[in-house]
Amino acid sequence: MTEIGRNITQLRSEVPANVRIVAVSKFHTVQDIEAAYAAGQRIFGENRAQELCTKAPLLPSDVEWHFLGHLQRNKVRMIMPYVNTIQSIDSVELLRLVDAEAARLGKTVNVLLQLHVAQEETKTGFAPAELMMLATDGAFIGMNNVRICGLMTMASFVDDMEQVRTEFTMAKSVFDTLKSAVFMGNSNFSTLSMGMTGDWRTAVRCGSTMVRIGTAIFGERNYQG
Ligand SMILES: *Cc1c(COP(=O)(O)O)cnc(C)c1O
Repeated sequence: MTEIGRNITQLRSEVPANVRIVAVSKFHTVQDIEAAYAAGQRIFGENRAQELCTKAPLLPSDVEWHFLGHLQRNKVRMIMPYVNTIQSIDSVELLRLVDAEAARLGKTVNVLLQLHVAQEETKTGFAPAELMMLATDGAFIGMNNVRICGLMTMASFVDDMEQVRTEFTMAKSVFDTLKSAVFMGNSNFSTLSMGMTGDWRTAVRCGSTMVRIGTAIFGERNYQG
């Protein structure tokens, strides 16, 4: 077995069975993705539209592609044929555009609303109060070609796991509130995507149902490549 295959096997033995693993393959090669696929991995995440569109046709069709980066409006149409889930919906306008483009193709796409809980200003997404207000106002209803499956969030990149835990706990609380107050009776709304290589254990303890792991599977990314 390849090193990537061993990493996946190891990770799967540690991550609870009810938590899905997205293998974040950005900046890694198609061969690397194939090695992960050979070890049974089927969900892969990319954060750049062009990279996703280049890689997806080269891999088996049962790969479930997740888009996790900031999505520019003019890239929506390009990724739509390939993408199973867009994890990074950060505005109602983007969501409506995704819905329209999915309708154009006659498909339904899964989406996660990106929640901003990190103290860092650089992270994008809805603020908790903003998301609650939009949801209560009905901003997320009436779209037939998007399936709103839950939330995605990133914690601050800090060594202080107490701060990370506070942020993940806040995300879990927003998720629970939305689920019981706005998306009740909607069985699709069940995913809380949080946790990366450095903080997934904390995320899982705080209630994550989906972790997005790059480095621990594929090794360090070479951004020059
Ligand atoms: C790159 C990326 C990850 C994976 O990061 P690692 O630290 O390599 O596990 C997870 N989520 C998002 C949104 C990313 O952009």
